[in-house]
Amino acid sequence: MLRVRYSISTPSMLRGLRYYSIPTTQKAVVFEHARGPLLYKDIPVPQPRPNELLINVKYSGVCHLDLSAWKGDWKNLPTKAETAGLLVGGHEGAGVVVGMGSNVSGWEVGDHAGVKFVLLSCWKCEYCYDGHEQLCNRPVYSGYTHDGSFQQYATVDAMGAPKIPQDVDLLRVGPILCGGITVYRALKTTTAQAGDWVVILGCSGGLGLLAVQYAKAMGMRVVGIDGGAEKGKAAIAGGVDEFIDFTECDDVISRVVAITNGGAKGAVNVSTLPQAIQQSIQLVKKRGVVVLVGLPPDTTVTASVLQTVLKSVRIEGSFVGNRADTDEAIDFFRRGLINQPITMAGLSQLPEIFDKMSRGEIVGRYVVDTSK
Ligand code: NAD
Ligand code: ZN
Repeated sequence: MLRVRYSISTPSMLRGLRYYSIPTTQKAVVFEHARGPLLYKDIPVPQPRPNELLINVKYSGVCHLDLSAWKGDWKNLPTKAETAGLLVGGHEGAGVVVGMGSNVSGWEVGDHAGVKFVLLSCWKCEYCYDGHEQLCNRPVYSGYTHDGSFQQYATVDAMGAPKIPQDVDLLRVGPILCGGITVYRALKTTTAQAGDWVVILGCSGGLGLLAVQYAKAMGMRVVGIDGGAEKGKAAIAGGVDEFIDFTECDDVISRVVAITNGGAKGAVNVSTLPQAIQQSIQLVKKRGVVVLVGLPPDTTVTASVLQTVLKSVRIEGSFVGNRADTDEAIDFFRRGLINQPITMAGLSQLPEIFDKMSRGEIVGRYVVDTSK
């Protein structure tokens, strides 16, 4: 039996009290080893540990990182499938708190909460200590080293879980909890100000269209780069000032330099192929910042030392975001500034979504409904 803790102190809280009956089994998509079959099946509902919330996940975004986890793209970072023989992926979940462990405070049953990639930070290492808890030395990753949001009930650490305001649309907020946070932080890392140009490489994928919209909301001017007519239409609808189709343009670098009158202040790479990363360094002006976000497997970056030095270019990696980035990214969304195209599907359709994603055919984000 799951212990569901309620906090009742006043009549008004009593009026707002909600009861949830929690089943013992649930639907999930699981796999047992890299590239193994993605099985839509019944599994037990997990029990929250003392520090954890139990969330009834209603919707989850499908991120390219989930595809990489399933493919086992990062050999030095094994998933729970490799270490324990089974993994439920997913880290863009949005749902309702239905239970919690005995040490949890600051949460009530009925609150809306998210499942994000960095699920648990130790709060003690040097990175946690100075506000970079996403870089914790002892992290737990949702949908990677801990079962994630491709199930109806997920456990998350209560300290790190994002609280979702009740007036925020649960169906659309999931992608903000990985994609949104990540691109928002990456854009801040470019140090671009309102009016500055930024280039988004891979601008019409899940992270890309979010990056375009956050950049516009932050007052930046955007050159978007992606491939194909559909991606171009989506980028223009998403608000890019200029779109470059890399499958048609012979000289992307000259084109960006011309549009931005000498180079952009920042280039954020959210593309999934190595070629774009090499290009990014040449797209920024002096003292420009290149931010690497996309994670193509087995890829290295080479940069001309002369160019990097003479232009004083900075090349930085950026990995999701901390709790402040999370709350700020959710707030942009709450204020109606971020409106990414979303395609709905059932959780059981995850294998087809991964297929489309592998072929680079997805515009914006797929969100799965865990009840289907
Ligand atoms: P996606 O598949 O939705 O989008 C990728 C986009 O890149 C597609 O639109 C594709 O057409 C485009 N693209 C591919 N090659 C290109 C090229 N040469 N030039 C320009 N565009 C190109 O993927 P997503 O969910 O947006 O994720 C993007 C990447 O970000 C993945 O590698 C993912 O693992 C990574 N990621 C990183 C973090 C982080 O914290 N750093 C967080 C989440 C995801
Ligand atoms: Zn993600």
